[in-house]
Amino acid sequence: MNPANPQHPPSGQTAHVEVVPLGPVNQTAVAVVAANLQAILELNADVAPEDPPPEYALAPARGQYDASLILQKLAAHPGPHPLRLGLTHRDLCLPFLSHVFGEAQLEGRAAVVSLHRLGEAAGAPSAPNSLLLERIAKVALHETAHLLGLVHCRSPRCLMNFSAGLASLDRLDISLCPVCREQAARQRRMLPGRSGGASLLEQPPA
Ligand SMILES: [Zn+2]
Ligand SMILES: [Zn+2]
Repeated sequence: MNPANPQHPPSGQTAHVEVVPLGPVNQTAVAVVAANLQAILELNADVAPEDPPPEYALAPARGQYDASLILQKLAAHPGPHPLRLGLTHRDLCLPFLSHVFGEAQLEGRAAVVSLHRLGEAAGAPSAPNSLLLERIAKVALHETAHLLGLVHCRSPRCLMNFSAGLASLDRLDISLCPVCREQAARQRRMLPGRSGGASLLEQPPA
């Protein structure tokens, strides 16, 4: 491990995941996401230079951005990272869902997280910064775990429990339950060199 940059893998190896700001994104939020990917999922993370905002994904009738189009573009990037996680302030949607905090390709390459709605708080103009950063980290970890192949978990406080809103997101621990942690470790050993994966839709469990 290089003590000057403990998140970076040994020279010659590509980091597991590339965190990609899509337009200007708060640098503290980017750093917190990268640090939590390392600390909770034990994935080495690189931070990419800022990409342009995802205007190609704008759904004009809704004023929102189609998460599936953003995933396609992130996944098509020729770079070496087996996983890519986009961060955006744009409001994300899917054709049949009003909004999503994030979206990922199950056992695929690309995930995206929106910061747009994470700063809201019931009865208050905005959430405190510490809570905002915790929510961003939770959604980023959840979506990245989908890339590892983890599906939604019924354990009530596990990060892979589906969160329909901020209240349920705030109730989750910022950690995986033992079953999910074991699966994440198994899948992590199969990185890199993996490809493929189907798009996962963020919906409540059946
Ligand atoms: Zn779990
Ligand atoms: Zn999910």
